[in-house]
Amino acid sequence: MKKVAIIGAGAAGLSAAVTLARFGFAVDVFEKNAKNAKKILVSGNGHCNITNRFLDSSKYISENPNFIEPTLKRFGYHELERFMNSIGILFNTKDDGRTFPLSYEASSVVRAFEETLSHLNVTIFNECKIDSIQKKNSFTLTCKDKNYSAYDALIVATGLLAYPQLGGCDDGVHFAHSFGHTSIETYPSLVGLHLDSFRHEELAGVKVEGEVTLFIDGFREKTMQGDILFTKYGVSGLAIFDISQIASKALIDFCNVEISLNLLKNFNPQSLSTQILNLCKALPENKISTVLGAILPAKLASAVLKESKIETHTKALHVNTKMIKTLINRLQNWRFKVSDTHGFSHAEVCGGGVNTLEIDEKSFESKKVKNLYFIGEVLDVLGERGGYNFQFAFSSGILCAEAISKDFLSK
Ligand SMILES: Cc1cc2nc3c(=O)[nH]c(=O)nc-3n(C[C@H](O)[C@H](O)[C@H](O)COP(=O)(O)OP(=O)(O)OC[C@H]3O[C@@H](n4cnc5c(N)ncnc54)[C@H](O)[C@@H]3O)c2cc1C
Repeated sequence: MKKVAIIGAGAAGLSAAVTLARFGFAVDVFEKNAKNAKKILVSGNGHCNITNRFLDSSKYISENPNFIEPTLKRFGYHELERFMNSIGILFNTKDDGRTFPLSYEASSVVRAFEETLSHLNVTIFNECKIDSIQKKNSFTLTCKDKNYSAYDALIVATGLLAYPQLGGCDDGVHFAHSFGHTSIETYPSLVGLHLDSFRHEELAGVKVEGEVTLFIDGFREKTMQGDILFTKYGVSGLAIFDISQIASKALIDFCNVEISLNLLKNFNPQSLSTQILNLCKALPENKISTVLGAILPAKLASAVLKESKIETHTKALHVNTKMIKTLINRLQNWRFKVSDTHGFSHAEVCGGGVNTLEIDEKSFESKKVKNLYFIGEVLDVLGERGGYNFQFAFSSGILCAEAISKDFLSK
């Protein structure tokens, strides 16, 4: 019986383990955490956004953009649904394509994997951090001075640096380097952004349904709509997460990164101006802060007035068209310089990783070392929010396992 070792009991490692064991391989999984798949457990706010019905390679970023297409073509949404059904997980797909387990509980996915693996006699060594790997004829892994040897193939499924508190680390990249691979610089993604401003601190806790536009070196890159949450450090929320991948990559490339916030996206400037002017006319004795406070959260109204250099106690009857123009510019095009991201500890995923030009896109085998494989987030493949990252982790895990079985069983 051929023996395969997998480092990492996350989405990629567990799906590879199930597939290999079904083909009759003896599989050992090494996981440094006491619990398996900690990221699955917390994913999608505990609901686990497994995949997306509208899979498309344009939803992924990599230095090697051709790498992802063959994976999605061979193992997409329907193939993943069949696999998940086979371990007892049914899909619940929303209109926007985001797909969750029917139970709507991430823990059900982890339980399904664990039971399937136990029936298939896969051994998972928990609290076993692999420190080093040696390859002679076969692979030997070392964990706390104990050697585990005679593996015919080794799969590195260690993820990357996002959320170190759940196991995120760059051990996989170090293993890759030790075998002569190169890697693409890592950066946090799906993460909040730090702003070079002091206003956000006064606004901490204010949340609006707005629109954010990202500018890199003065050029408009991307506009997204959704939650924008002001925080002590800057901004967070789903709209911010959706632009954070490009913003974070631009920051490590030393570009000038700015965002413009539209806090009242459902109005055009003319109708907003008319609305505010009409309110001022109807309530001439009211303070401008009270007038604005009727259309915006009070903290935001006050910050916008300060930023526009308009006294908060100015009477509505004294508000002129020039003041309204300044206000509207702030409300719909409030520009901030982005100084940093909120870091790996708060990032849902990590960009960069093992250079995919050195990995076979069909089997995920290293082009440098026979029988060594890399799958999941450790590779330089980064998906958008919406289930794209799990899809890649599962697809790469299962396709890699199928390739190993083809390779070994044909010998
Ligand atoms: C809060 C949060 C929410 C998320 N929600 C979603 C979502 O809803 N949908 C989605 O698509 N994606 C989501 N993601 C992203 C998704 O979790 C990852 O893209 C995915 O888990 C990557 O899978 P992986 O198996 O490659 O790596 P991981 O899940 O990171 O698994 C790698 C495993 O390897 C272990 N390991 C590392 N080094 C060693 C070593 N030396 N020895 C032994 N073990 C080691 C780690 O402890 C870890 O358990 C979320 C991420 C976070 C942090």
